[in-house]
Amino acid sequence: MSQECSHLGQVEVTRLPESVDGCEDCLREGTGWVHLRICLLCGHVGCCDSSPERHATRHFKQSGHPLIRSIEPGEEWSWCYVDDLALVIDGIEGETRIPPSPLLN
Ligand SMILES: [Zn+2]
Ligand SMILES: [Zn+2]
Ligand SMILES: [Zn+2]
Repeated sequence: MSQECSHLGQVEVTRLPESVDGCEDCLREGTGWVHLRICLLCGHVGCCDSSPERHATRHFKQSGHPLIRSIEPGEEWSWCYVDDLALVIDGIEGETRIPPSPLLN
């Protein structure tokens, strides 16, 4: 990888939650998500940019937290919004059980 993310020192979430109920903003607002992402700074669970409300990106814009990780089964990639960079971050443990997408049935 030629590019680097300068925000790795900000990662606070090093163990993924055992399970989540879905995108926390969608659950509150009654909307649906496609894929789930977790904020690696505060643990906010939001939805991807294929989802109507794009809550993960919205969380970045509101909080400035730059790093998310996919919590889809079998996916380990992270994304830095500031560096516009996909990366795999070592040292994040666990796998999250997630419910099926309400939009992909
Ligand atoms: Zn970065
Ligand atoms: Zn959402
Ligand atoms: Zn956050």
